[in-house]
Amino acid sequence: MFNMMFSKISIDSLQTLFQSGEYKVFGEITNQYSGIGPNNERFQAYLKVAEELDIPVGIHMGPGPPGVAYVNSPHYRGKLHDPLLLEETLIKFPNLRIYICHAGWPMIDNLLTLLWAHPQVYVDIGVIVYALPPIEFHNYLRRIVEAGFGNRVMFGSDQMVWPETLEVAIQTIEKANYLNDKQKRDIFYNNAARFLGLSKETIAKHHR
Ligand SMILES: [Zn+2]
Repeated sequence: MFNMMFSKISIDSLQTLFQSGEYKVFGEITNQYSGIGPNNERFQAYLKVAEELDIPVGIHMGPGPPGVAYVNSPHYRGKLHDPLLLEETLIKFPNLRIYICHAGWPMIDNLLTLLWAHPQVYVDIGVIVYALPPIEFHNYLRRIVEAGFGNRVMFGSDQMVWPETLEVAIQTIEKANYLNDKQKRDIFYNNAARFLGLSKETIAKHHR
């Protein structure tokens, strides 16, 4: 987890951590909870390191707990759900491997625009897969898949402190009648394997 407002790690230390191999993914970036969008200049210095070291980045863009600005994140703003806010960052760091946690729900039109214009971007379905009314989740996922981006969606639960939501999340994808078996497999595994750049050996090990 990384939040510009609370994380004290310096850019140099981040670089050292990633170079040591101790951490392999930079995320979840939770700046949205502090009202900080992806264009923040200081944050971009961290992204530069992630791009240079080819470290995948996961950024929260989408729902927090309902009404969270009135609970413990007074700077949380719904307008930062907007996936198009990433656009200038993507142009600036064209080799950055980045995925949007929670898929920018509910901003489907802007998400499809981003996925169309920037083929390197992936999304995950953490939280929205179990927290939304199922019909809303399926409408959202179906739009992404029918627009031709089913190969850029990665399974996630974001179960936090509710491990049983893992099962709910898996069942939700299993039961999606608009997905064929291959599309489900892509969401559960293949897309993430591609995004994360898993080696053939690692993939073989997972299938043993
Ligand atoms: Zn999140």
